[in-house]
Amino acid sequence: MHDNISTSIQYLKSVGPKRAESFSKIGINTVKDLLFYFPTRYLDRSTILNTVKVVQHAVNGYEGEVTIIGEVVNSEIHRYHRKQIFKVRFKDASGFFECVWFQGAKYFQNVFHTGEYFAISAKPVLTKYGHLQFVHPDFDRFAEKESKEFFHTGKIIPFYRVPKELKETNLGDLSLRRIVHQAVENFAKDLSESLPDYIVKEKNLLNIIDTVKSMHFPQDFPSLESAQHRMKFEELFYFETMVALRKQLVKVKTKDHVIKTKSDLIKQFLKSLPFELTGAQLKVLSEIRKDIESDKPMNRLLQGDVGSGKTIVALISMLIVVANGYQAVLMAPTEILADQHFKNISGLVERLGIKVSLLIGGQKKSEREKVLREITDGSAQIIVGTHALIEENVNFNKLGLVVIDEQHRFGVMQRSTLVQKGLNTDILIMTATPIPRTLTMSVYGDLDLSVIDEMPLNRKPIKTFLRGENKLPDIYQFIIEKAGDGYQTFLVYPLIEESEKVELKAAETYFKSLRTEHLKDLRLCLIHGRMSWQDKEKIMFDFASKQYDVLVSTTVIEVGIDIPDANIIVINDAFRFGLSQLHQLRGRVGRSDKQAYCILVAKDEHAVKSNQLDLNFDYLSPDQIEKHKTMIRLNAMVKHTSGFDLSEIDLKLRGPGNIFGTQQSGLPELKYADLIEDAKILSDARDTAFAVIEEDRQLAQEKNSVIKKSLQENFHYSIRLSQIA
Ligand code: ADP
Ligand code: MG
Repeated sequence: MHDNISTSIQYLKSVGPKRAESFSKIGINTVKDLLFYFPTRYLDRSTILNTVKVVQHAVNGYEGEVTIIGEVVNSEIHRYHRKQIFKVRFKDASGFFECVWFQGAKYFQNVFHTGEYFAISAKPVLTKYGHLQFVHPDFDRFAEKESKEFFHTGKIIPFYRVPKELKETNLGDLSLRRIVHQAVENFAKDLSESLPDYIVKEKNLLNIIDTVKSMHFPQDFPSLESAQHRMKFEELFYFETMVALRKQLVKVKTKDHVIKTKSDLIKQFLKSLPFELTGAQLKVLSEIRKDIESDKPMNRLLQGDVGSGKTIVALISMLIVVANGYQAVLMAPTEILADQHFKNISGLVERLGIKVSLLIGGQKKSEREKVLREITDGSAQIIVGTHALIEENVNFNKLGLVVIDEQHRFGVMQRSTLVQKGLNTDILIMTATPIPRTLTMSVYGDLDLSVIDEMPLNRKPIKTFLRGENKLPDIYQFIIEKAGDGYQTFLVYPLIEESEKVELKAAETYFKSLRTEHLKDLRLCLIHGRMSWQDKEKIMFDFASKQYDVLVSTTVIEVGIDIPDANIIVINDAFRFGLSQLHQLRGRVGRSDKQAYCILVAKDEHAVKSNQLDLNFDYLSPDQIEKHKTMIRLNAMVKHTSGFDLSEIDLKLRGPGNIFGTQQSGLPELKYADLIEDAKILSDARDTAFAVIEEDRQLAQEKNSVIKKSLQENFHYSIRLSQIA
């Protein structure tokens, strides 16, 4: 039998089968679905003023926002300094006012029609002619009837999204609001609590019935806030419960081997290093060491900005395992990077009598077979390779530790492949922080976290500049001068040509004109996307040994490549890159004690001059939003050197779902909470969820039965999460 709220909404007054069908198209089938279709905005009626009042306010120097309601009289587009300005004139009972937009004229022209009523919210300004004006205000449209009626209704007016599916059956703001009102009045009382009572009490949350009521028709803003808080908490609580459950799963396994740190070997190794480890590196190492010595498998995320020195930490961790007679694996995202790790590590540990082997795709068959034998018979102690290492059937002799470098390029899938293979071994995942601090725990909440939050002492912050293409001659001059002091330069051109032929030609054209004209006195080399990794590697190697001054690259220079004397990077068409990519690219320089420079070159002079970092995109057209975001990205690079700061901006620009690309990020798609803004609620929800699972691993206790039921009901939720696991 159905309970009331599970009945179809077609039985609500003024819905019926036809409208029910259109609701169904946007995912609303039952009364309960409708109860959770919350408004997107609210308008506080008690703060609405009329024109005369607002003018008085403005004259008195009042700085705050006001809300005013008016009817559109007319609108027009002005031209001003090659820009289009959009103006709408309104009237209310006491006078006239106007709204102005400096962007998106075309778009707004289709929004405001004569005779329609809008609520306008913004800071009032008085023009030099004494007109009341609002610049880029927030606005809400009213149905005509409503504009006359609502002066007699509720205090806070909810605004719902009315998608075109609903409009097609003649549903508008007002009719939708009425239908929802009916549902709330008659059915909200039947909602059952979706959090355990003891958590609702302990956390001082609003109960579900009052929450739903207040989300739609709040008495006042504090009660709306309580309702929103409850929705956010619940959402984050369930997400974190899944993370906690996953973490439990890992923790119950036991390793079949015991490892003790042999400090002699480590001491000997540290002595041979040309530098001392930073405090952060030491701290992180002791955390890793505890995990390696424990009988539970390590699942640790090592986070550290580009250049913070993660490789050496990984290497020492591997040495601990190797000294106990186990093998250690280091996986890199690309062959060229694997190869560089292999060379570095061999150079550092072979004198300790440790055998390092490389396994990558491009090797000769005989070479490959030899390496595979060494891995199987155990003579290979440290094995460096790409992810091919786990995808193929490599038989390890005694595997003790797997290190994954640059996790963000691997994605979550590879990590799960490892676990699926039943490799009950220690795993250390390294990442250069494409994820903001605040999010790490929710994304990788089943991992323990170590952070290298300190750069090696000798580093100077990289100086970053943003220049228009017209400044290229000066930039070339700068490269030439600095080459005189032994500086090397990366010159990056992002090519996105579809066909190999075209791309190759473009790369060669750039290269030729640089070599014969702008930089003809310097030694130049070229790397492009169509080269084999061996060829790239050879050039990288020659560049690193200073046979060239300038490396021209038409592909992204591999993440993680380390060339100490390359201290200038020029990124052409910088707008083509995402923020985390730009930061990774910049990380190719500044890896020594010399001053490093990053020059971002943009086509658009405009973007270069602007330093507006306003993240408000309301009412910009899609085109302008893209331009605006580009400008913010480039200017953020100039302003910030920390990858953490940049990743936070990136997150705001992209939205969590899109962080560095795809779903791979494993970030939840949240409806109510904002992972950045609600960081406090997130951490509270996390603590609560982890405490619940700690105490009641199987969710078997009666008081937690609601949690179990909710998890089962939201089945799609758990499927998505288990895929990440
Ligand atoms: P990332 O964290 O980006 O992987 P790397 O491990 O490649 O950084 O280190 C960058 C450079 O810094 C390397 O040349 C490395 O040898 C050097 N390095 C690492 N640790 C220190 C330290 N404590 N002091 C000085 N240089 C260091
Ligand atoms: Mg690295």
